[in-house]
Amino acid sequence: MIKVKKRKILLLPGDGIGPEVVAEVKKIIEWFNKNKSLDFEIDEDLVGGSSYDKNGTPITDEVFYKALECEAVILGAVGGPKWDNLDFSKKPERALLKLRKELKLFANLRPAICFKQLVNASSLKPEIVSGLDIMIVRELTGGIYFGEPRGIKLVDNGERKGINTHVYTSNEIQRVAKVAFDLAKKRNNKVTSCEKSNVMEAGQLWKEEVQTLHEKEYKEVKLEHMLADNCAMQLLRNPKQFDVIVTDNLFGDILSDEAAMLTGSLGLLPSASLGAKDKNGNIRSMYEPVHGSAPDIAGKGLANPIATILSFAMALRYSLNLDKEAETLEKSVQSVLDDGLRTKDILSQGKKEVSTTQMGDAIISKLK
Ligand code: NAD
Repeated sequence: MIKVKKRKILLLPGDGIGPEVVAEVKKIIEWFNKNKSLDFEIDEDLVGGSSYDKNGTPITDEVFYKALECEAVILGAVGGPKWDNLDFSKKPERALLKLRKELKLFANLRPAICFKQLVNASSLKPEIVSGLDIMIVRELTGGIYFGEPRGIKLVDNGERKGINTHVYTSNEIQRVAKVAFDLAKKRNNKVTSCEKSNVMEAGQLWKEEVQTLHEKEYKEVKLEHMLADNCAMQLLRNPKQFDVIVTDNLFGDILSDEAAMLTGSLGLLPSASLGAKDKNGNIRSMYEPVHGSAPDIAGKGLANPIATILSFAMALRYSLNLDKEAETLEKSVQSVLDDGLRTKDILSQGKKEVSTTQMGDAIISKLK
């Protein structure tokens, strides 16, 4: 068999259930290395609260530079009550914001797929969600979470005023819209762009820039514009009308959580954050489950590793150009669900409960 070149993957397990779910991905990477002659080089390091405990900072410069140099970062989760009262700059979540900002990961991809085996886990009627497959593309490095001026200020009458600024440039809008159009071309060829152009100038600019890009480069993709509040409603009324949704940082934060819940469980939801192509054509990227560190179940073998495993499948597809392997991994997950194996968060009557490691092992056995 031909050996392909070594690709560096950085594992940052983080806190809480992070190390448990990332350990299952590590087993899968090792399986691919051994059985498919892939030559992934795995590095692993601290991030979040565990990094703060050892190094006094949620991410060291050394780890940050490793992230810059590898082909894909797989992150578990960060945070937990132990670190809740730290100064803002030391909080575990600062590591995530730093990685997203400095790696310029401007596009966050969150698929919401309703597995047919788990259709009853959704709070919506089965006919509304069965077969659902949508992709939300959220702008991740601009908008109101980063805009200046910001802060809490004292005003004349002794009251306090909280200020945040919602700001976007044409370039920021067009580069994330491009990601959405390119994805749509490989899917069902439809993009829904969401903003609040009826009440916000930045929303009006968003709509115009997406439209301009569409007319210039993506005429063959169907484009519709939708107000973000309507999109929130349509996601519950008829989610299957959507293929790719592209929206800003704030609305994307909310709409992607809403879409996620259509599928029933946090333990199943992967995500990818992508940056621009560098001069060698490589894309900086980070892959992580949507869920947090779940301190309530950490260390008990109850965590569902599927979200993190599917995040690795996204890494195979978007960063490592291994579409076939990505598909094999996704099919293995489906096949284990077909067999009725469930971690506790998705357990239903008549199904067999398995632990985090048993779920990982079962998925690996299907890869064979
Ligand atoms: P959470 O996602 O950690 O947990 C919410 C609920 O879902 C909990 O009941 C948890 O047990 C369950 N859950 C989550 N993932 C699961 C999995 N894989 N398998 C089974 N059950 C799962 O959210 P939270 O409780 O609001 O936050 C806990 C901590 O995680 C906080 O410190 C928060 O800041 C942090 N957090 C981190 C990230 C991240 O690292 N990207 C994201 C969200 C929250």
